[in-house]
Amino acid sequence: MTQNFLKSPITIRELLRSAELLVSRIDARFLLQSVLNVEAAFLIAHADLLLGTEQIRRFQQLLARRIEGEPVAYLTGEKGFYDLVFEVTPDVLVPRPETELLVEIALSKIPLGQQCNILDLGTGSGAIAVTIAKHRPDAQVTAVDISSAALVVARKNAEKYAIKNIAFVEADWFSGFSSEKFAVIVANPPYITLGDPHLEEDGLRFEPFIALTAQENGLECICKIIIQAPDYLENAGWLMLEHGYDQASVCQELLDRTDFLSIFTQSDLAGIDRVTGGQYRPLKGAK
Ligand code: GLN
Repeated sequence: MTQNFLKSPITIRELLRSAELLVSRIDARFLLQSVLNVEAAFLIAHADLLLGTEQIRRFQQLLARRIEGEPVAYLTGEKGFYDLVFEVTPDVLVPRPETELLVEIALSKIPLGQQCNILDLGTGSGAIAVTIAKHRPDAQVTAVDISSAALVVARKNAEKYAIKNIAFVEADWFSGFSSEKFAVIVANPPYITLGDPHLEEDGLRFEPFIALTAQENGLECICKIIIQAPDYLENAGWLMLEHGYDQASVCQELLDRTDFLSIFTQSDLAGIDRVTGGQYRPLKGAK
């Protein structure tokens, strides 16, 4: 079916119409924007433009890969998140809209103008850390990842937006720190159970396994972070984590057992429990 596209001349409108029979409308548009290196409005304003053979060939290649399940963000090399566009490669998870909730909550805990230290564990593309650093220029953000390949991507994203209040550390969760204390710690750790059928779905097959899955029913990394966080949090500092749809109560329980108060869970736009956090109060219970 995709062979038809090779029959040039074809206009933007005709090409998109055919492609939209095979992939979603938005994906077809993102792919063509990427091939032509244009903004979304261009496709509308120039719908009658005839495309060149090379442009059609490149579009067709991307379309075939999308049909095989590759995330559109890996094909175009970018993904919008919050108010920025992040470079992404298969070395990092594609930033997801539900993770914007984590950023929103973190920003609500960091008053504008406040000088404080923020930590993002498992930064991947840097979407969370760079967005927080951009919106809170007086805060100093540290972004950690165990993957040096991911950190290359995260650094590029910080450079793209000339973010200066950010530092990158290659480490396994807290292992890169000793006595540092943070006002806010955020993380979107891997939390999908090994063997979850969801992993075989569309885009996930192409994403880094290490960024998606965790042992112990997906809770291994979440537990590690909650249990170790008190050593790295200021008194009254906040920890908040993204988690799976059924992990809020375990997260709440762990936080409760680890000297956290003001424990909360917030659901994402799909109504799914997505972020749980709390405030570290080491004297809890001691009257
Ligand atoms: N929310 C992602 C998904 O289910 C997983 C992200 C993660 O493991 N941190 O597709």
